[in-house]
Amino acid sequence: MCIFCKILNKEIPSYKIYEDDDFYAMLDISQATPGHTLVLPKKHITNVFDLPEDLASKLFVVVKKVSDLLKEKLHFNDLNILNNSGQIAGQTVMHLHIHIIPRYSKEEINLSPVEHEYNKDLLEEVYNKIMK
Ligand code: 5GP
Ligand code: ZN
Repeated sequence: MCIFCKILNKEIPSYKIYEDDDFYAMLDISQATPGHTLVLPKKHITNVFDLPEDLASKLFVVVKKVSDLLKEKLHFNDLNILNNSGQIAGQTVMHLHIHIIPRYSKEEINLSPVEHEYNKDLLEEVYNKIMK
């Protein structure tokens, strides 16, 4: 089972931001910026090429909802919405996910997970701001 399926199966904990019948959103374990969130289908779908069109349109509605929630709670004005489909494109977890990355300044974005240490305090602080 892939790591995101294990999270969906509650075998691995995560900071859940949003959930509905088809999708789940959680904080990325490695926060490129505070609030960096992943939106994923509950069904294991590898990447955009395997995504059925009906789920594709629903997915962007969820991405929009989560973006608005993050903006409201974290008070930024700008953000990136990003998907890596395939290894050459930088996909490391082979379960489709959309990155939502708030931008607070021009400099700070670096998507390489190795650049960011696992920081439980930051995750908890951001989670509490979003969910309160
Ligand atoms: P990709 O490179 O595939 O587009 O992005 C995978 C993302 O998943 C990375 O940003 C990485 O930090 C995140 N990630 C990997 N393992 C976990 C995990 O166990 N929990 C959470 N919340 N995020 C993870
Ligand atoms: Zn999976």
